[in-house]
Amino acid sequence: MESGAGDTRFRMRVGGMTSPSCEHHVEKALSEAGARDVAADFRRGEALLSVNGPPDTATLANAVQGTGYTPGPIEPVDSITLSEGELVEYRLGVEGMTCADCERHVSEALHADGAIDVAANFRRGEARFKAPAGVDPVRFVAALADTQYRPGAPERVATEAEPAQRNGHAGGGDRYDLVIVGSGGGAFAAAIAATERGAKVMMIERGILGGTCVNIGCVPSKTQLRAGDLFRRAGHQPFQGIRARAESVDLTTLVEEKDQLVATLRREKYENLVGEYGWELVGGEARFEDNQRLQVDDRVISANSFLLATGARPAVPPIPGLDSVEFLTSTSLLNLKSLPEHLIVIGAGYIGLELGQLFHDFGSRVTLVQRGERLLRSYDPEIAESISSILQSQGMDIVTGATFVRAEQSGTTRRLVVARPPVCVCGRLRGRASRRERARR
Ligand SMILES: Cc1cc2nc3c(=O)[nH]c(=O)nc-3n(C[C@H](O)[C@H](O)[C@H](O)COP(=O)(O)OP(=O)(O)OC[C@H]3O[C@@H](n4cnc5c(N)ncnc54)[C@H](O)[C@@H]3O)c2cc1C
Repeated sequence: MESGAGDTRFRMRVGGMTSPSCEHHVEKALSEAGARDVAADFRRGEALLSVNGPPDTATLANAVQGTGYTPGPIEPVDSITLSEGELVEYRLGVEGMTCADCERHVSEALHADGAIDVAANFRRGEARFKAPAGVDPVRFVAALADTQYRPGAPERVATEAEPAQRNGHAGGGDRYDLVIVGSGGGAFAAAIAATERGAKVMMIERGILGGTCVNIGCVPSKTQLRAGDLFRRAGHQPFQGIRARAESVDLTTLVEEKDQLVATLRREKYENLVGEYGWELVGGEARFEDNQRLQVDDRVISANSFLLATGARPAVPPIPGLDSVEFLTSTSLLNLKSLPEHLIVIGAGYIGLELGQLFHDFGSRVTLVQRGERLLRSYDPEIAESISSILQSQGMDIVTGATFVRAEQSGTTRRLVVARPPVCVCGRLRGRASRRERARR
């Protein structure tokens, strides 16, 4: 509900809110209890609301309590009595805010200068507020002059009834400024930048939010690499005065620990940002209907622009016989629960190297097989040579300049036959797990 004639603005302290979805619950409860123009803020632990006449504190407190949060005192925000149409909403770009404390400093400075309902957001680099229609909004730029923050020019925010003027904003309805397919690092960077510029954004994901890096790429591989490094150092350290022993690797527990880390980082670095920036997230597989519309399940979505941030999949090389051999990809390798006795890694880019190295550190025999004459083709030769000699000194087998002749499997042994130099590398593994890793890309 919008504020109306004769409404008075109040601030209610609310304990227990931890995220934008808590704000949403509190706002809904207070609105249902009769408050108007409710704006909850979990960082400040408060909700601003308008009521006509004295507030019914018991009803409002019960409403908040009923949603599981703790109601506090209700106090008038200021003595301004609003009249219909008197307040104008503004957006002020503010550079230099880096945290919730910065948001508080900016809000306080604007509020002290007469701004109403101030909500600063460091991620968006902006402060939104209202001011009486007769007030020149440029004064709020001056309000931040003595702070470390750098305000831009205030822009009037279009109301629901007005078509938006700024940056081609799509306005209401089901049309978006930008629809992004995918939810990995690339998609998030684009969604953040577009939202900061005021665009109406939708993100579509058919799998797990966060895409490759956090779920099956950088994060899980680096944590396992660190575990392998610690295990190797425990068994191979140069000081006679230190007695340390590497006993065994419990891959099941390591995979569980890795999964916990992934879940935490996915929540903190991805899930929470969707609510904080406020773009819409839709689950499902996106397909183009035509060059202006996408379909997700039964929903047809129109947008001014589309961004395909759909990432990549592991590529399976065309090696004769490979289709009849069980092989691993980077994703399945990082979820192995038992250690392969011998792992053959096809391809020696950075992903192949790190996955090979971590299993070598855990105790598997590892052979890296590469078509080119050197590892890390896209890196400087000096770097590649130095990494190659480190890995060989640690005991990894490296075969370069290989031509893949065929792959075959008998029983639990998978065999990769390569030529030039003529060599046969046999991989024997424990259990039913497949044996071959083709690193992504
Ligand atoms: C083992 C491993 C380790 C790595 N380590 C590093 C590292 O240390 N440093 C580094 O910089 N990079 C690393 N990378 C690479 C990095 O993870 C990727 O480059 C990066 O995650 C790609 O991000 P993206 O946003 O382009 O795509 P992705 O993160 O792959 O996201 C694409 C998303 O699009 C979704 N999608 C696809 N099609 C559709 C559709 N039709 N509808 C809806 N959704 C769809 C997919 O489900 C997916 O979630 C690593 C990769 C791997 C595999």
